[in-house]
Amino acid sequence: MEAVAIAVPDYIAFDVETTGFSPEEDRIIEAAFVRFENGRPVARWSSLVHPGREVGLKILRLTGIDLNELVKSPDMESICGEIEKFRGRLPLVGHNPGFDVSFLSRVIQGFPGVPVYDTLELARIVCPGLKSYKLGDLAGELDIPLCDAHRACDDAEATGRIFEVIQREIARLPEDVRKNIISIMGEEWASACLFQAEESFGHQLSLFIDGSSYGLSAARAEILQVSPDDSQVEKVPLEWLPDMLEALKGHIFVDYPERLDYANVAASLASYPGTVVLAGDVETLPGVGSGVCLLAAPHDYLCLLKASVIEKFARAGLLEHLDADAKRFLSAITVWKTRTQDGLFREIQLVGKGHALSRELSCSDFPDCQEHCAYSGRCFYLRALNTAADSRMIVTPKINCFDLPLEVNASACIVSGSDDLGTIWERNRPRLNLVRLREALEALRCSHCVELVERLIYKSLDVLGSKSDMVVPDDIVQTLSFVQQEIQLAIPDLRQQLRDSAGASWQLPFDPPVLGMNLRSLEYWMEQLQGVLMEDDTSIRLLEKGYGDSRGIIARKALWPAIEAKHALARRFEKVVLVSPNAGSMSQFEGLRRLHGLEPEDLVRFEGQETPKREADSGPLLVSIDKGHRMSYSEHLELTGEFLQRLAMESRENVLCLCPSYSYIRNLNSCISDSLESEGIAVFAQGIDGGTRVLEHLAEPGTMVLARFGVDIKGNSPVCPRILVIPRIPFMPPNTMTDLRQREIWDLGKNGFIEVSVLPVAFALRGYMETLSRNAGKIAVILLDPKLLPGQSAWGKDFMDQFHDVNAILCPPHTGIAQAVKWVSFG
Ligand code: SF4
Repeated sequence: MEAVAIAVPDYIAFDVETTGFSPEEDRIIEAAFVRFENGRPVARWSSLVHPGREVGLKILRLTGIDLNELVKSPDMESICGEIEKFRGRLPLVGHNPGFDVSFLSRVIQGFPGVPVYDTLELARIVCPGLKSYKLGDLAGELDIPLCDAHRACDDAEATGRIFEVIQREIARLPEDVRKNIISIMGEEWASACLFQAEESFGHQLSLFIDGSSYGLSAARAEILQVSPDDSQVEKVPLEWLPDMLEALKGHIFVDYPERLDYANVAASLASYPGTVVLAGDVETLPGVGSGVCLLAAPHDYLCLLKASVIEKFARAGLLEHLDADAKRFLSAITVWKTRTQDGLFREIQLVGKGHALSRELSCSDFPDCQEHCAYSGRCFYLRALNTAADSRMIVTPKINCFDLPLEVNASACIVSGSDDLGTIWERNRPRLNLVRLREALEALRCSHCVELVERLIYKSLDVLGSKSDMVVPDDIVQTLSFVQQEIQLAIPDLRQQLRDSAGASWQLPFDPPVLGMNLRSLEYWMEQLQGVLMEDDTSIRLLEKGYGDSRGIIARKALWPAIEAKHALARRFEKVVLVSPNAGSMSQFEGLRRLHGLEPEDLVRFEGQETPKREADSGPLLVSIDKGHRMSYSEHLELTGEFLQRLAMESRENVLCLCPSYSYIRNLNSCISDSLESEGIAVFAQGIDGGTRVLEHLAEPGTMVLARFGVDIKGNSPVCPRILVIPRIPFMPPNTMTDLRQREIWDLGKNGFIEVSVLPVAFALRGYMETLSRNAGKIAVILLDPKLLPGQSAWGKDFMDQFHDVNAILCPPHTGIAQAVKWVSFG
């Protein structure tokens, strides 16, 4: 690598491992300090530390620290002197060092006492576009070896090396970009000195030469590189094409027997003459030839004019009031905008305030702005639109397909994996979350309106609680109209204040970005209020939002969003194809069909290939456990706890238990984790030991993971359990939509609950089982829900009928464990 001077060549990289996350309650078990000179490691100091308390199995497994060695180690007090001697007065470098400092400052007086640089913060700014900034992932991206992650010495050395690479990257940044970052972050920012070098150190040998570190660019590169003869393309059942194209005559649902990747099938339609829009998951689209254009919504693209205005604001000191999170995001944008090919925000991580700020910097004001814009020749969105005009296939996110710009001249739209089309359509409809509205008004100090909205929240809870009348009473409508008028009056004042504060020099085709976030928030709520109040009052309804969340959400009546979505597409395109794995089942079940807003003649099933028969000793095994009697919630929890303990100990397999709620996870965790950990089996509980990352631990042998329904295990994921336990079967959260749909089905003399709620869950479980089987070979799924047992509930039989072709057994708990273990051990 090219030698360039770096601002801080000598430093100490450090890291500690601890028994947990709390500096008050937890203790250090390992500390490491690595001295770097000229950016190279020259000396290491590390020690295990006797914590003076018990260490959880999880930590020992995560770090690989041997408990026997740990108990022979010195305590923290006795090594403080050595640490101080080793580190001297050199600046410190850590990866999210706030955590390490909070532990060390409790035991070392005056720690740190020197500048501390944070590679996590710096990497987010200087290397925007990475999928993850965890130490291991970042080291991998930057080609830095990290042999023993989660051991303090290796982590500290990797951190120090990352710091050196980051400094080189900073040195290569153009001087104006470095100055802009300092303006945004402020001169007093701890890392400002790294950006202050006088000269720019030439050699634009970027880490991101071809933009391949950016998610979307990489996906795009992959798409464009695959030739039509590539083996991926051969997987597409091309012989179906004539049938499928024939079917394009109407508005149809397509089912296909082998459940190949939806996008894969839809992608093969790219050979259809004329332009086709494919609405779906862009990232999973394999094997499409050239002539493909990615087109997102205007607000998904960076507006170069707004980005340059922000830099001017920073230099004028107008952004000083922003918090560190917002400043970091804006700094990352200044670097990213010099590197991005597509200008799509999905290339960078939108965490914290990133979502709101990306909206502020987006092309949302397009197209009126281009006449006044010096950047219009380079505008990312304009460029994407121009490319779309010459493309045979336009790929766009599903949410965007209803609202494509007029310039997109396509005749057919294929929606890939369209089961959630109704939900997506519904998301675009005006709705008011009263709690959020109150927060927005509070931020603007509209105390009178805050009170009114607060009263509305209580009122809406009454309405929801009684369930007697879901239509919003007149007085609520009147209050909403009043709030709307108040907001309408506040907007011009706020706009004037904003323009005054930004100075008179602004000749912008939009309100000053970022400075005007409050104004945008008011405008947003104004729009939602207008939408909700539009038309006749009876079209307004209060909706509940999911389990346990009874906050009032007021929305316009939308009974059949899927139908409306379909019609919206039909108005725009001559041909619409919705590709769904559930289409076959819809021809049998009225409720499912209605849920998707379809008529029987809408459904077309291709019989191009036969579904391979499942061999008797392959595929998943479904075990239903029969305890022989009905159980209360606590008895059932106890049964599940006992069952999981025995299962984990007897099988020593990786077990994933999908729980119905977070409180269930917590209860289960407190029942089983201690005894299992004493047996050497680590239990990871979602919501307690981290979020979805908890699933990563399923890659370790003999691990139990308790997670909420809805965990996403992708095809070909290395993280895959072989035994799946489901204590209770979940159903759609009750809300007005499902209530109304169910009622319609009851009116037809059918069971609305089964068709609208039970069947989709059964199909979802089937899909999940197929993914797991694909990844792990033989798997066993154990159902502990007593309602599934014969004779226990009206719907249990219907649910189990959906698994008629799966190897299934019904047995008492101990036999179930033996059967499951036997099944998965003969892979
Ligand atoms: S043309 Fe409009 S959207 Fe594009 S960069 Fe200029 S101001 Fe932004």
